[in-house]
Amino acid sequence: MAGNKITQQVFEQVTKRNSGEVEFLQAVKEVLDSLGPVLDKNPKYVDAKILERIVEPERQIMFRVPWQDDKGEIHVNRGFRFEFNSALGPYKGGLRFHPTANASILKFLGFEQVFKNALTTLPMGGGKGGCDFDPKGKSDNEVMRFCQSFMTELCKHIGPNTDVPAGDIGVGGREIGFMFGQYKRIRNEFTGVLTGKALNWGGSLIRTEATGYGAVYFADEMLKTRNENFKGKICTVSGSGNVAQYTVEKLNQLGAKAVSLSDSAGSIHDPDGIDAEKLAFVLELKNVRRGRIKEYADKFGVEYRAGKKPWDIKCDCAFPSATQNEIDGNDAKTLLDNGCYVISEGANMPSTPEAVEQFIAKKILYGPGKAANAGGVATSGLEMSQNSLRLSWTREEVDEKLHNIMIAIHQQCFDAAKEYGQPGNLVAGANIAGFVKVADAMLDQGLV
Ligand code: NDP
Repeated sequence: MAGNKITQQVFEQVTKRNSGEVEFLQAVKEVLDSLGPVLDKNPKYVDAKILERIVEPERQIMFRVPWQDDKGEIHVNRGFRFEFNSALGPYKGGLRFHPTANASILKFLGFEQVFKNALTTLPMGGGKGGCDFDPKGKSDNEVMRFCQSFMTELCKHIGPNTDVPAGDIGVGGREIGFMFGQYKRIRNEFTGVLTGKALNWGGSLIRTEATGYGAVYFADEMLKTRNENFKGKICTVSGSGNVAQYTVEKLNQLGAKAVSLSDSAGSIHDPDGIDAEKLAFVLELKNVRRGRIKEYADKFGVEYRAGKKPWDIKCDCAFPSATQNEIDGNDAKTLLDNGCYVISEGANMPSTPEAVEQFIAKKILYGPGKAANAGGVATSGLEMSQNSLRLSWTREEVDEKLHNIMIAIHQQCFDAAKEYGQPGNLVAGANIAGFVKVADAMLDQGLV
């Protein structure tokens, strides 16, 4: 049977089994849609039912997270961990704390993570987890009590050779610290069970910067294919959290001008560019005071666009760095009409299928999240290596390794797209290159 027919059949089965899980189905469809030619060329994957296996998490854990607020009131949240695929190494992937976190969203993220981690070439399987807890507006003590309760259950399922979570939306250095403390207390083990740790107790230099830096390095590789670079390029960035902050920093270093940031309430447009001094204000605003991006507009006298995303601002390059499906079909059309021709996804699946379709049709330089934002997990992999070796590499060493990994990821996607007859289509390239690595390892390991 033709590869495309098989992928269609598998998708029908996945839809039936996971009905209503919109984001998960979106992520699975995108990958399956790329794999027809791979199956045609490699019937061994069909015979071994690799597709049917790869769309099913190896294990999923759902648990109650009770905690008490500062007034003594009790709250109950729902925690998850999707241990998706361990063919290439221990499960690895972030934890998301956001009121919208649910099985569909965390499962889509776990699925994407499998292929992303394969592209890094580091020995990491894929997983993802989180909770529908909202850290916004909570005191440090409340966040600590919640993290302790969350880890009290999660610690039964993870470990440095089993499953190594990291941060994601709503989980930064503070949350990783609280969770690490609780893991250590329960297990009596100081071990590399989480990444994104602080530098003085096992963290890696550049991990904080890695996703944003990596998304810019990836875009730089795409630009090089057209003999271009970042000098003088106008760039829009969404979000104002970890990924957005270090995307702006690297853009500044490479001579581009980042002109926007956003949060869930609105966006700012700063045509003069978010320079180092203004970025320092953002870091303090977001990471210490935990305020809203509107304060940037008030402080620097620029336009605040309540309730608006940055995609109608004219730019050469766009860096979606907030959340899934933040660029819809209309936003994509606006970006393209305004001349944007480089999109590098810091966020996971930030473009809807209607948006992706337009980017591919217009043959712009489009770096999908599972490739463009892999720098974060790659540097988490480097943190794991340093923890195992019990030594720390310098900032320059880690940055160089990260840069080389991003160059290699781009090359793999570029080559796979070409090999399978879709030159320049890095969506197909990323899906195919990631899939083949995982599928081959699954074949080697027998029916698991
Ligand atoms: P942060 O929590 O640090 O920041 C998230 C930012 O996105 C905030 O500005 C937040 O605004 C905004 N945001 C979140 N949800 C929404 C929403 N529904 N609508 C509009 N804005 C929203 O998270 P990160 O920077 O770590 O993560 C951003 C993206 O990058 C996510 O898609 C994540 O999966 C992806 N990613 C992160 C990696 C990492 O290493 N951290 C690695 C790879 C991918 P507000 O404060 O108002 O909620």
